[in-house]
Amino acid sequence: MTASPAGPMLPADTFAGRTVLVTGGGTGLGKAIGVEFGRAGAAVAVASRNEEHRAAGVAAIEAVGAKAVGVEVDVRSPEAIGSAFDEVERAVGPVSILINNAAANFPVSATDLSPNGWRAVEQIVLDGTFFCSQELHRRVAAADEVGAIVNIVSTAAASGGPGMVHSAAAKAGVVNLTKTLAVEWAPAVRVNAIAPGLFPHEDLPAAIQAVRDPDLDDSRQPAGRVGQPHELGWAATYLCSPYAAFITGHVLVVDGGNWLRRDFAMPPFTPISDQLGGR
Ligand code: NAP
Repeated sequence: MTASPAGPMLPADTFAGRTVLVTGGGTGLGKAIGVEFGRAGAAVAVASRNEEHRAAGVAAIEAVGAKAVGVEVDVRSPEAIGSAFDEVERAVGPVSILINNAAANFPVSATDLSPNGWRAVEQIVLDGTFFCSQELHRRVAAADEVGAIVNIVSTAAASGGPGMVHSAAAKAGVVNLTKTLAVEWAPAVRVNAIAPGLFPHEDLPAAIQAVRDPDLDDSRQPAGRVGQPHELGWAATYLCSPYAAFITGHVLVVDGGNWLRRDFAMPPFTPISDQLGGR
């Protein structure tokens, strides 16, 4: 599969006058998504807990000439989400596009996962996505506007995710939510999801870096390469744009075919607990 070009995909005024809020928009894929929305004319709110992360996201979006604002939020708290939407509205205008991207990704065997670890991931991914989506819908409906939501999930939502039971279960819940809300909130708010494949980036948490061999990433993909973060940004901007006005309730897999891979001779199976080094 060829490398993709960099640069904008959509006309620069596609989201003129619109504000998008990206949860976890200060790092990795959330940052790349924010940048692509900025390139397509949106004002972008970078919403997360850590001030350094938010500042990095705002700087990256401003570097492409777009308006950006950082806002503190823990998506587990509906009250904090309401305040964050208020703050963004005062700074750059009402939010009508939401990217539910925040997540906690740490590999651990199901045997060793603590109740706190389980709860944290379910609350960030499943509860956080629902609370943020409710807030967006409430506001868009009250203003008699139209809106769009994209939920960033994972192919493990469909396949299961050995070593990531917490995340896989939460993402599966988010896929289900995507389909329910797409119908409940039509036609005012379209709700779609994106399932990324392997998208390494400089902000990946140390726990993930520890179990991946960067030299093997490309050769293990049917596409011959891993994803580039801006490609995910393109997918998110497309799904929220007027060009996708007839698409809702869809899960778009962006993974170069990796999750469908089956070889004639599968490699020997190594128990997940061994792969995780006892974690
Ligand atoms: P990442 O860099 O670790 O980003 C996660 C973001 O979530 C961080 O910016 C973090 O910001 C934010 N966050 C965590 N807890 C939060 C909370 N309670 N409230 C608000 N924000 C919170 O991960 P990534 O690789 O970019 O992943 C982005 C999305 O893609 C995730 O949904 C992930 O599951 C999905 N995904 C990624 C890959 C990949 O290969 N990278 C593959 C499949 C799926 P703060 O620390 O500042 O709060």
